[in-house]
Amino acid sequence: MSGLQDRLLQRIVDVVDFPQPGIVFKDISPLLADRMAFAAAVDAMAEVHLEQGIDLVVGIEARGFVLAAPVAYRLGAGFVPVRKPGKLPKATHETSYDLEYGQNVLQVHLDAIPAGSRVLVVDDVLATGGTAAAAARLVAACDAELVGFSLLLELGFLDGRSALSTACPGVPVEALLTV
Ligand code: AMP
Repeated sequence: MSGLQDRLLQRIVDVVDFPQPGIVFKDISPLLADRMAFAAAVDAMAEVHLEQGIDLVVGIEARGFVLAAPVAYRLGAGFVPVRKPGKLPKATHETSYDLEYGQNVLQVHLDAIPAGSRVLVVDDVLATGGTAAAAARLVAACDAELVGFSLLLELGFLDGRSALSTACPGVPVEALLTV
């Protein structure tokens, strides 16, 4: 592991039994609050995708927004929010999925992603992969091209990477950090 990855991992705090018993929540807020760490994480997440002609970066509510928006800015791409139900004001595509804890629904505006757009999906944590796969289904519903997934932190023991490669064969999964 590189020095940068070590330094970033030191800024992610384990919160045991949140939001429910048995879950170790990875709190990235100390990393976001550290100007050097935040900038380094965004730059490193964007760097891999600089030459890929990304049109739009999809961020997943809510922590995904915090990373996806600056990654989009770095890539010269637009930003599209994928949100929980009841948040987007216009007509949406929606899909449901299982979380490491519970179930959820995600939505995207019908007109947010033009057909044929080259799209990168960004989120903070890859756990079981259900959330990222749901975002991918929304991208597909818009007839756009999913170019890759970019995660700040992959929880390797939950093997979301395998779930994603089954759900989205051939779509690269980039995780800046892995535990
Ligand atoms: P999954 O769908 O299981 O891959 O879960 C990933 C989504 O849930 C991401 O949007 C994360 O923000 C959140 N998440 C799941 N597990 C954790 C965890 N242990 N710590 C922090 N966030 C998590």
